Amino acid sequence: MSTEPLLELSGVRAGYGSIEVLHGVDIALPPGAVVALLGPNGGGKTTTLKVCSGIHPVSSGEFRLGGHVVNGASAAELARLGICSIPEGRGVFPNLTVRENLWIATGTGVSLAELEDVAYTRFPILGERRTQLAGSMSGGEQQMLALSRALGTNPTVLLLDELSMGLAPRIVSQIYDIVGELAAEGVSILVAEQFARAVLPIATSAALMLQGRVVRTGDPAEIEEELSTSYLGG
Ligand code: ATP
Repeated sequence: MSTEPLLELSGVRAGYGSIEVLHGVDIALPPGAVVALLGPNGGGKTTTLKVCSGIHPVSSGEFRLGGHVVNGASAAELARLGICSIPEGRGVFPNLTVRENLWIATGTGVSLAELEDVAYTRFPILGERRTQLAGSMSGGEQQMLALSRALGTNPTVLLLDELSMGLAPRIVSQIYDIVGELAAEGVSILVAEQFARAVLPIATSAALMLQGRVVRTGDPAEIEEELSTSYLGG
């Protein structure tokens, strides 16, 4: 397997209006890797993922995908190139049923039958609840729905933001087990997590993000330890 990064940010700067919040971010996501983006609130993790999904522009620096510079590509273009994102809060429509939520992803060119097949094979509980409103399901089931919608589009890169939010630890570990299976199937995954311990079992490397910069990359357990002792008062 190639170790050339599939997705790479080099010296990326980005901001909101005149306020710069990413001050030269460097991240490399090799094929099939799970890179955990760790760090306290406000460090720039979500903004970094937004840049990678094309919903937030790069002011300067380079965003490369498969070695090609894709600065300025739209979210739709990046989705066609295989980038799929599950935003913080899951992006599930609570007033639509499971099936209708899957239908939304048919906009990417995949059929509802294919999406349902992927979803109900991997998560049989979603098949049982296909006519239930998504908002009436548990947080874990909603996260499974969000993952199903993403998987149905056959992504090469998955961007995940705070999957653990609002979920019980047991459910968090089930969800991350599934994310680990996806990585084993060859999907490359960049995952932002404040609850660093949740992602440790599956992360191949970690990047510590503070105040708009990646200040260290390396072994996930070592970075989690540094984070909890130095920055989160653990
Ligand atoms: P969190 O886990 O709290 O979401 P984070 O590490 O993901 O933190 P970001 O959400 O990327 O960090 O925020 C980085 C900085 O950008 C913060 O100072 C935040 O206040 C600022 N910021 C984020 N979104 C906006 C916005 N829409 N407008 C202005 N500033 C923003």
